[in-house]
Amino acid sequence: MSTAGSEYRLDGIYKQRQDGFYMQRVKLPAGVVSASQARTIAAVSTRFGQGTVHLTTRGSMEIHWLKEEDLPQVKRELAMTGLTSRGACGGAVRGITCGSQGAHGFPIIETLARRLQRHFTGNPRFERLPKKFKIGIEADVVGGRHLIQDVGLVLAGIDGGRARYDLWIAGGLGREPQAAFLFVENLAEERIIPVIEAILRVYTAHAPPPKRLKFLAKEFGEAKLCQLIKAEATFSEEIPEVSGIHENFITAVNDHNRLELPVFAGKLTAAQLAIIANRAEICADGVLMVTANQDIALQLLPDVDAAAELSILQQQTGLTSAGSAPALRVCPGNHECLMGLTATRDVARELLAHIGMQGRKLTWALSGCQNSCTQPQLADIGIVSSTLVKGEDGVRTPRFDLYRSTGEGLGTAAGCAHTLDELCGKVREIG
Ligand code: SF4
Repeated sequence: MSTAGSEYRLDGIYKQRQDGFYMQRVKLPAGVVSASQARTIAAVSTRFGQGTVHLTTRGSMEIHWLKEEDLPQVKRELAMTGLTSRGACGGAVRGITCGSQGAHGFPIIETLARRLQRHFTGNPRFERLPKKFKIGIEADVVGGRHLIQDVGLVLAGIDGGRARYDLWIAGGLGREPQAAFLFVENLAEERIIPVIEAILRVYTAHAPPPKRLKFLAKEFGEAKLCQLIKAEATFSEEIPEVSGIHENFITAVNDHNRLELPVFAGKLTAAQLAIIANRAEICADGVLMVTANQDIALQLLPDVDAAAELSILQQQTGLTSAGSAPALRVCPGNHECLMGLTATRDVARELLAHIGMQGRKLTWALSGCQNSCTQPQLADIGIVSSTLVKGEDGVRTPRFDLYRSTGEGLGTAAGCAHTLDELCGKVREIG
């Protein structure tokens, strides 16, 4: 095997910052994973990695510290429980995300997420794209997650069991954040795949690597981009109505019986994940969810007491939440990620010490570089480690940009190039 690493991207593998080690990302449709699949991920992490699992804001799980010679066996073991990583990194259709797992319409969304993942994953027509292509499905526009996707689907209604979606396109974060715009309203579910195919064809034909779809919206203007997509043959293709048995693992959502187990920075040990999977088998129909805030959620059986189960889980895993700790999304940063400019988990711990009562009511996101994997422009307070500055002593220290939510669209810059001390001061000002 080569050591370059880039040829593994389509298999969901990135080289780690530490030479000779790799990260394997596992796609989970809408963040849903069965208990047996979760146990497999935990076992793979223990056997081939260092026994840790990272939960991402896009509902995936990542296994770090893998050696190159073990990657084929890791893939085999994941595949044996129906898990796939194909297209989880690189120029492909990434994992289908959902930040609305607590919504009543979630089972329908999960079914669509599984269909989309199955259709676009490993399909050579939709690999080797100019860059990543992200699809998200939401129950509503609250939270704005539809705005940061290449294709964001928002549930518009359900008639006689048939769902319709508003389809937003050309959003994305990174160095040049851009909110998606509404392309088609009330799209029947069966037309979603052909319409996304039309979008992908236009994207592949016109965008130079490594540009995202949002580049074309800027370059051509929204009207011309829409026109090009509508001119594609598949855009108006007639597709039979979706039929058959639904594919969702989550069968019903009940507000009172939803449990969220906070996980600091989305970092679990394999042993903790296995414990949660075993509890899910007993009290949640054998299903777990990775939430958009990098926590674990369970939809409990009707007769299970959520508070009691949370207490059991916290006791058995040691994942004790600090009661009033705010929702804080944290990427791996330079702990493991090649792109990271800062030790995000250490910075997060420091920030938590400065967040006061007001700040605890807000959502926070910290990203280790401008790739913005934790979606800082969707949090009340977003922090991006944007650059490293060399001091007189020759030591390079990170600087941080600050984003604040305006309540509409993406958060906007509220400060730039702060040192960590200055950043902590800004955090204290929030109260
Ligand atoms: S935001 Fe940057 S440092 Fe953090 S995981 Fe993404 S690429 Fe890595």
